[in-house]
Amino acid sequence: MQPYDDSNIFARILRGEIPVHQKVYEDDHVLAFHDILPKAPLHVLVIPKGKYATIYDFYKQASAEELLHFSRAVTRIIDQLDIQKKGYRIVTNCGRMGGQEVPHFHLHILSGRPLGSMVEPLETAPSF
Ligand code: AMP
Repeated sequence: MQPYDDSNIFARILRGEIPVHQKVYEDDHVLAFHDILPKAPLHVLVIPKGKYATIYDFYKQASAEELLHFSRAVTRIIDQLDIQKKGYRIVTNCGRMGGQEVPHFHLHILSGRPLGSMVEPLETAPSF
């Protein structure tokens, strides 16, 4: 597991040191807000308030209650954004190869346009 870096930007938002960018949802354990550099017309980030660096750490360390609460909060956010019928993509990046920039676990919820293929196709066959 990855040591949690308290200086990451989402930790600073949670501590109130910097303002949250267009808050969408908040409860005792979850915060959701619009991504500052949106990759789609709708791009919302959902974070647990607990200190988890990655989805792996969250799945591995969070209590059953926390896991359930987070999942249900995501459904509430989807309802609030009114995207359940239109469709959306939920992505989480993990670690260097996953392209994770902020080391506090977060889900990206993307919608508002057809999102196409999930990742660029490989140009050559994988070697494994
Ligand atoms: P990731 O690459 O999966 O770690 O995604 C981090 C995301 O956080 C990027 O899409 C950034 O645009 C976004 N981001 C960084 N700082 C902020 C901020 N202060 N408020 C909202 N979104 C942010």
